[in-house]
Amino acid sequence: MNKYANIDFERCSPYVCDGRDGLCAAVRACTHKLLEQEEPGDPPMLLSIRMCVGCGSCVAACPLGAIEIKNG
Ligand code: SF4
Ligand code: SF4
Repeated sequence: MNKYANIDFERCSPYVCDGRDGLCAAVRACTHKLLEQEEPGDPPMLLSIRMCVGCGSCVAACPLGAIEIKNG
């Protein structure tokens, strides 16, 4: 079993959580650098399910509840 961050693209709204720049707080919060926005305003993508440690820092950083930890 591997815990990983699952992004809910229905809930994610970068310009709601950062109205000025559309930058994702969860990207900044992941010290493992596993979340990436291709462009400001895009939802973040998890670069590697396998490398995600399921720490939940991204979950805590997201103000819209768009990320949850899943067991894969
Ligand atoms: S994952 Fe959360 S913090 Fe990141 S852009 Fe989406 S809503 Fe905002
Ligand atoms: S659960 Fe931890 S390691 Fe995985 S994407 Fe979120 S902050 Fe990064």
